[in-house]
Amino acid sequence: MSDSQNRSRVAVITGASSGIGAATARSLHAAGYRVALLARRVDRIEALAAELGDGAVAIEADVTDRDALVAAAARVEQELGTADVLVNNAGIMLLGPFSSGQREDYRAMIEVNLLGAITTTEVFLDQIKDGGGDIVNISSVAGRVSGPGSGVYSASKWGVNGWSESLRQELLPAVRVTLIEPGIVATELPTHITHEATRTGVQQAYDVATVTAEDVAEVITFTLGRPRHLAINEIMLRPADQAL
Ligand code: NDP
Repeated sequence: MSDSQNRSRVAVITGASSGIGAATARSLHAAGYRVALLARRVDRIEALAAELGDGAVAIEADVTDRDALVAAAARVEQELGTADVLVNNAGIMLLGPFSSGQREDYRAMIEVNLLGAITTTEVFLDQIKDGGGDIVNISSVAGRVSGPGSGVYSASKWGVNGWSESLRQELLPAVRVTLIEPGIVATELPTHITHEATRTGVQQAYDVATVTAEDVAEVITFTLGRPRHLAINEIMLRPADQAL
C-alpha cells in the first residue's frame, strides 16, 4: 500500500513506550498511519507522540485492565478514527529457573503476554472488523523453542501462537492476522528479570545483540503494506548467529 493509501489507516500499538512497540509506532507513522500509543509509562508515550506530531496520540493503558482498554478504544475512535490495525506488542520476559519464588512473575507473564493480548483484541475487535483490518501479534522464538529457565514465558508465547492461528481462521478474509516471532532483539526487555543470576546472564546476550527494534518494525510495516489479497501469516526472525 502506498503512503497516501495508508493516511486514512489508524494503528493501535500496545507497549509503545519502548523497544519494538516504539519503533513500530515510528515506522508506521513514517509510512503515513495515524498511531495510538498505548502503555503504562505515560511520560514516554507522551514524549513519543510529541516527537511524531500530527496523527499520534498517547493513551495510558495497562493491558491487564479491561476498563482502561475500553476507555482507550473510545478515545482512539474519537481522536483518530476507527482502528484498522492492532499490534499486540506489550510483553514481559521474567526468566529464571522454575520455582515458587517467581510465582508472581508467572502470573504477570500470563496476564500481560497472553491475556493482555486477548483482552486488547476482544475490546478493539469491532473497530478492526469494521471495513477490514489487521491484527499483528508479537510472539517470540520462545513460542516455538523452549529451554531451561524460559518455561512460563514460553508458555505465554506458545499460548499466543495457538490463539492467533484460531483467530486467523475465524476472521479471514476481512481481517488478516499475523504472528511475528523475533529472536534476540536489543531492547530493555531483560532489565525486568527478577532472578538476578538469570538477568545478568541474559543481559550479556542482549548487550551484544545485533538485531534492533527498528529491524522488527520494518518487517511489521512491510507485512501490513502488502495488498489485501495477500496475508503474511507468520514470520520468525533471528539474529543470523542465533542457533535456538
Ligand atoms: P520492552 O521492554 O522495550 O517493551 C515492552 C513494552 O511492553 C513496554 O512498552 C511496556 O510499556 C509494555 N508493557 C509491559 N507490561 C505492560 C502492561 N501491563 N500493560 C501495557 N503495556 C505493558 O521490550 P521489547 O520491545 O523487546 O518487547 C516487546 C514485545 O516483543 C514483547 O511482547 C516481547 O515478549 C516481544 N519479544 C521481544 C524480544 C526481544 O528479544 N527483545 C524477542 C521476542 C519477542 P510500559 O512499561 O510503559 O507499560
